[in-house]
Amino acid sequence: MSAEQHPFFGHVIDNVEVESLDGARFDTVNPWTRETWAEVAEGSAADADRAVAAARRAFDEGPWPRLGRHERAALIHRLADLMERDAEVLAALDTSDMGKPSTQALHDVARSVLNFRFFADHQRDSTAEVMPMDTGHHTYVEYGPAGVVVAISPWNFPLMMATWKIAPAIAWGNTVVIKPAEDTPTSVVHLARLAVEAGFPPGVLNVLNGYGVPAGSSLTEDPRVDRVTFTGESGTGKVVMQAAASHLAPVSLELGGKGANIVFDDADLDNAVHWAVEAIFRNAGQVCLAGSRLFVQDGLYDEFLDRFRAAAEALRFGDPTDPATQFSCLASEEHFRKVKGYVDTVAEEGGKVLTGGVAEDGSWVVRPTIVVDLPLEASQYCQEIFGPVVVVNKFHSEDEVVGLANDTRYGLNAMVFTENLSRAHRVSSRLRAGTVWVNCFFIRDLRTPFGGVGDSGVGREGGTFSREFFTEPKAVVMQIDRG
Ligand code: NAD
Repeated sequence: MSAEQHPFFGHVIDNVEVESLDGARFDTVNPWTRETWAEVAEGSAADADRAVAAARRAFDEGPWPRLGRHERAALIHRLADLMERDAEVLAALDTSDMGKPSTQALHDVARSVLNFRFFADHQRDSTAEVMPMDTGHHTYVEYGPAGVVVAISPWNFPLMMATWKIAPAIAWGNTVVIKPAEDTPTSVVHLARLAVEAGFPPGVLNVLNGYGVPAGSSLTEDPRVDRVTFTGESGTGKVVMQAAASHLAPVSLELGGKGANIVFDDADLDNAVHWAVEAIFRNAGQVCLAGSRLFVQDGLYDEFLDRFRAAAEALRFGDPTDPATQFSCLASEEHFRKVKGYVDTVAEEGGKVLTGGVAEDGSWVVRPTIVVDLPLEASQYCQEIFGPVVVVNKFHSEDEVVGLANDTRYGLNAMVFTENLSRAHRVSSRLRAGTVWVNCFFIRDLRTPFGGVGDSGVGREGGTFSREFFTEPKAVVMQIDRG
């Protein structure tokens, strides 16, 4: 197809949607149809340079960091209003880019709107510490914006992960260059168009499209950048951290996971099955927080497994644009091949596929897959598959399962299902993870810290934790009492 037949998504720099300087473009493919559906500007180092220059100028000379808290909050709420107006459009872009079922994409838009509304209000209503000193001085803390923020986001929650970074950054008065994942850039470009419509000053929200190298790397290496916030794979996170270290920019890294989901004998079975299905098959398992290692206590194991399998097989599979669809294709051919590799080698590594497997019809589909009897050294058990594949293990005691759950380099999240309150407290406290959900999953209060331990990340975002990262707290010491 010729370029004219596909919609085009450019970079957005200084409130203008532009081609790359060298005119380069790449295709974005709809993984359900397996056809190119749009073309996107492919950013080079030179494009990154002009995006950072725009954000730098907007921060150093523009009105944004100097706006009053109420005015900034009002503009961000106006953007959120426009997102609500265009919710169907934004959701459809994520569905076209990655095959996310439309109902789940709409849910992501609602959460993205909340990201903006929450951080707009949080900065507007925030108070700061005042410390009266014995010497007759007072010290107060001022939370000023940090400067230019580079945000780099992954493809699994294209709009939601991008807004989780953009919202606190701009709310606290920073200017931003976001580089969305190359597989899923279009909803973020539309978001920037809405920011222009809302009346954001030029240079506050810039979008640079392109590949990790050179587009992403040119941004993280740029010494004019004051903060780097990244979500993606743990390996990429290390490269990003090294680049930011070259100019001493603080980093916030939200990385991979291999979540433990622990079901005790006394769990509410319906509830535990419901959340176990959500935790590994929602978004086709392409979730950092996925409950990909499921541990079930021996007294409940057989009954749980029967119910879990039946629920997995009952998920409605189909075209992601159909609102009834609960489960669809994987996000790209490359990712499908990766997940397929793990599923194809289950028997070789000593395990058994209880249900699911790879669709052999040329589609990029891996069905909800439950693996049992797998040795603990197997790659499917140890590595992040990032697909609809769960490894189930039986355990006997609390000590045993805590040891198993913690035996990983990752530490993003865990889930505990039990009706015993003391055990819930005890086990949650012993789990090495940034978030532990008890008798639930995926529930978030945006005031709380979010992040991971070990290979799952560096730092926390959310509420005041985001404020810490996106501002430069300043201590102002005033002599109050001259004696
Ligand atoms: P990825 O690391 O391949 O890519 C993430 C982003 O980094 C993309 O925009 C990519 O273009 C960019 N990038 C790649 N190389 C770069 C470089 N050298 N310099 C700068 N940028 C570069 O990850 P992905 O495959 O897009 O996303 C899946 C991963 O993200 C999984 O590991 C998942 O667990 C993780 N994830 C984590 C969270 C969390 O909150 N912890 C949330 C969502 C996804």
